[in-house]
Amino acid sequence: MTPSILPQSPDVLVIGGGVVGLATTYHLAKAGAKVSLVTAGDIGDGASACNAGRTQVNEGNLDAFSLSVIVQSLERLAQLPDELGMDFGWRRIGYLCLISSEKEIHNWQQRCPALTAAGIPTEMMDLAQMRNAEPYLAQELLLGGAYTTEGLLDPFLYSHAFAFGARRLGARLFTHKPVTAMQVAGGRVMEVIAGGQRFTPGKVVVACGAWSGQVGALARAHIPVAFHHTEAFITEPLPPVVFNMIGIADFYEVIHSGDRAVPIGLGPYPNQTVLVAESVSYPPQPNRSASHWGLTALSAQLQRYYPSFGRFRVRRHWGTATPYSPDEHPILGRVQPLENLYTATGFQQTICITPVVTELLAQVVLEQEVPAELDAWSPARFMSDFPPHQGGGLGGLVDHPGNFTHDFERT
Ligand SMILES: Cc1cc2nc3c(=O)[nH]c(=O)nc-3n(C[C@H](O)[C@H](O)[C@H](O)COP(=O)(O)OP(=O)(O)OC[C@H]3O[C@@H](n4cnc5c(N)ncnc54)[C@H](O)[C@@H]3O)c2cc1C
Repeated sequence: MTPSILPQSPDVLVIGGGVVGLATTYHLAKAGAKVSLVTAGDIGDGASACNAGRTQVNEGNLDAFSLSVIVQSLERLAQLPDELGMDFGWRRIGYLCLISSEKEIHNWQQRCPALTAAGIPTEMMDLAQMRNAEPYLAQELLLGGAYTTEGLLDPFLYSHAFAFGARRLGARLFTHKPVTAMQVAGGRVMEVIAGGQRFTPGKVVVACGAWSGQVGALARAHIPVAFHHTEAFITEPLPPVVFNMIGIADFYEVIHSGDRAVPIGLGPYPNQTVLVAESVSYPPQPNRSASHWGLTALSAQLQRYYPSFGRFRVRRHWGTATPYSPDEHPILGRVQPLENLYTATGFQQTICITPVVTELLAQVVLEQEVPAELDAWSPARFMSDFPPHQGGGLGGLVDHPGNFTHDFERT
């Protein structure tokens, strides 16, 4: 398609219409910037509209800054529906983390007081307490648990609420406009081509989740995000069998233990359906397929932990790519060596921390003062792994290396 003649020239162009890109757009617009967002498909069509909606509070890093972001985020989540002008079903709910090894018992015995002291009350549970909380859970698989009150929201509405709030503040959102090329000259992104439209923004933010690496590569920039492929399903409405959000203590160990893994996670929803997540694999490119393997493996794992489920119908089964950062800290800030390219991706507790960290990113982009601790999340920490591009190609119009259109076909 030939690019349109008259380019759009926002102060900032955000690429990626997942919750991270949408919340960044909202905060930039709130701060008074002229901001546009382009995304390849519909709003929230990556991982953002089809996740479990858990505002995870107790599974991340225990450094003081990360914990303060969680506490601030919980306060913001309670206010956001009013601020954005749209409800997204936010409510508090218990989360029970299942522990099956002495190593994790020891780990959580250290984590519980640290979390509680930071304002995230978390306590160990013995098997008798767990039997009370989850009478149908297979106790023989476990040594104990850790319990905290976290939160649950509707991830589809969460993304749309940020889109709604951003539009109300004057942001322009362009859907079905995949970015296919960026022109770079003099160390700056000069032009972005999205769905045949030319943009000549002052600054560019790549917030494409698992696709951020591919999109950064269009500007010959290294955004070191990793991803895994995640499948989940949702049951038909069932009599109550699960009463809390459920996860496992060694989640990250399990998902990195091989080419395929099934770390059980369950979400009892208010409409009596149960979300069953997740089967994890590592394809070479991000995609949105759902496999027979994933469904079968998840069902088997569910029956193992909750034999009382018996037979039930699956209402929907899906898969998509989930971004993560190699060192489990967000990747957030300017992408060197380019002067005007930024990224926000690879968060470990995306649903929870997005309201606060995207506001911080907006402040970085608008060159406002930010906490010094944010340096630790800068993409620059990975530069020794990926030295800056030395060749002469930075000035040219770069063709995109992959077939993005294929990635956005519905499967
Ligand atoms: C089953 C499942 C359960 C999960 N449960 C939870 C949970 O309970 N809590 C939690 O915090 N996290 C959870 N996650 C992880 C969470 O969903 C992701 O971390 C989060 O959605 C990532 O948001 P994002 O905006 O960075 O990326 P995405 O939502 O993936 O958005 C990326 C966007 O970029 C767009 N894009 C890609 N390429 C281009 C291009 N070339 N041009 C323009 N746009 C482009 C895509 O279309 C997409 O809209 C879960 C994930 C899955 C799959």
